[in-house]
Amino acid sequence: MSISSDSRIAVVTGASSGIGEATARTLAAQGYHVVVGARRLDRLQALADEIGGTALELDVTDEDSVTAFTTVLPRVDVLVNNAGGAKGLAPVAEADLDDWRWMWETNVLGTLRITKALLPKLIESGDGLIVTVTSVAAFHAYDNGSGYTSAKHAQAVLHRTLRGELLGQPVRLTEIAPGAVETEFSLVRFAGDQERADSVYEGITPLVAQDIAEIIGFVASRPAHVNLDQIIVAPRDQAAPSRFHRTTG
Ligand code: NAP
Repeated sequence: MSISSDSRIAVVTGASSGIGEATARTLAAQGYHVVVGARRLDRLQALADEIGGTALELDVTDEDSVTAFTTVLPRVDVLVNNAGGAKGLAPVAEADLDDWRWMWETNVLGTLRITKALLPKLIESGDGLIVTVTSVAAFHAYDNGSGYTSAKHAQAVLHRTLRGELLGQPVRLTEIAPGAVETEFSLVRFAGDQERADSVYEGITPLVAQDIAEIIGFVASRPAHVNLDQIIVAPRDQAAPSRFHRTTG
């Protein structure tokens, strides 16, 4: 398959649901040819058909998959590092090593693999942009969340380090750190337990994926000399990762 290099290309990882899917729609509406990547190709294909983009299977934890994904891209103007998530909610004393490995492989090493592979193309574009979706968990530790908070801290430090290392290159870097967004995030975190996932958003008005997509669209539409470094965004009902105002009944 060949992708035309005539229009500006935006790559969105983890675009088969939630924030990534909404972001792909927003960037397509801004005129980008959007290349969407994730493991669930059926969902990606439906999205790509809708927005006139390209769907490519991608597992950010797999080196060969990342190589296959990145080598077919003729140019890259925008990279949205969004693939990620959490598994479990356990105190350190009961940490599940497999859950930790999943979180570190997906959020940290996944972001590293894709970013490293696409850096030359982002620089070549003459006006590249890397948006990394971290979390309020990249700024705070919270009880029972160390697997996720440590991974998001590490992912954020990788992204922030690049901001300095790329000084002088035509690439901007923006970190978006959301609080609670109602997506499939909690369903994945609690291994498909819908009731437990729903309880996360009970009595609050959470953000929705579109809220984050609009912010990423704003970032991508700034002029080349404007670098929005960090954007922390939470629902009005959330003051810290585990501090909510909830209405009951
Ligand atoms: P989501 O609906 O569960 O979406 C996660 C996306 O990541 C899916 O498209 C999933 O696709 C993809 N993904 C997971 N593992 C992958 C892998 N190995 N390779 C490629 N893609 C993979 O959750 P979301 O809320 O939109 O999450 C998006 C990002 O926002 C994540 O980095 C998350 O940590 C961050 N975030 C979320 C919240 C929140 O409250 N929702 C808050 C702060 C930050 P496949 O399963 O098809 O591969």
